[in-house]
Amino acid sequence: MAKVLICDPVAADAIERIRALGVEVDVRDDISLDELAQIIGAYEGIVVRSRTKVREPLIAKADKLQVIIRGGVGLDSIDVAYARERGVKVLNTPAASSNAVAELALGMMFALARHIARADASMKAGRWEKKALKGTEIAGKTLGVIGYGRIGQLLGEKAQALGMKVVASDPYIEHADIVPLDELLAQADYISLHLPHTDETHDLIGKAEFERMKHGVYFVDAARGGVVSEPALYEALLDGHVAGAALDVFTQEPPQTEELRRLVEHPHVLATPHIGAGTREAQDRIGDEIVRLVKENLA
Ligand code: NAD
Repeated sequence: MAKVLICDPVAADAIERIRALGVEVDVRDDISLDELAQIIGAYEGIVVRSRTKVREPLIAKADKLQVIIRGGVGLDSIDVAYARERGVKVLNTPAASSNAVAELALGMMFALARHIARADASMKAGRWEKKALKGTEIAGKTLGVIGYGRIGQLLGEKAQALGMKVVASDPYIEHADIVPLDELLAQADYISLHLPHTDETHDLIGKAEFERMKHGVYFVDAARGGVVSEPALYEALLDGHVAGAALDVFTQEPPQTEELRRLVEHPHVLATPHIGAGTREAQDRIGDEIVRLVKENLA
């Protein structure tokens, strides 16, 4: 009987369904990396979310391991090439959270347009700032989506249905909405990032890119920390070039450096703690996918 270790939180009913496949499951969803290194040798499969980093030294101890299942999208927390070199499959659940992230990005756009978080904070502080909180509407505006894969295209469809014009930038796919990045930067009233963080995309949006954007642009990032240069964004917020930014991801999570704290605390920044995939529906879909992957690979 194959043994699977659940290293991060996974929906309880998914765990029961894995057991029902005849697989032995141990749940240690708050396990430390040191403890994991001591016991990983006993397992054919491990299931991780974003918390557990599966790096080379850990994989080197995993003598029986056949499969690493990452519930979620990015594989940046796993040394994939090394795992595959050792014959360990690395699988993820890329589509399960797409709609959740697209809806968060859309919610952030509405929140920026109508200053919803600021309005609520000022009400709770006992103020009534009706005039200062005059907003704008998203209908009729142009949304620039950088990275037009699963999430980007879902957001594009939703935005079009709300009366926005959508342009997108993605060097790796063909689509009628695609324009060169420079054109997108110049045209968009809202810019939303939906691409992975790689060597190629590191600091893709920096000082020069912010300067090419329209004055008063709204910026949304629910992709990955490191694609936008946080210091460049902060500068663009200070001089008002960026009217507001909504950030779900950071180069350090939780953000603790002084540089990041000043960004999070800027009055025109709406910050959320990496909740893009955090819906009940997405978590259920991730659970379903994990069960399917265990069934196909270990049962
Ligand atoms: P995807 O692979 O379907 O789409 C990503 C797209 O980015 C691809 O089409 C790719 O061609 C494009 N791309 C790559 N390099 C590019 C570049 N230099 N310029 C423009 N486009 C480029 O991925 P997805 O499922 O849509 O996920 C998109 C991002 O969202 C990923 O970074 C993922 O990690 C992130 N994500 C965040 C959360 C969250 O909780 N906030 C949850 C899920 C996914």
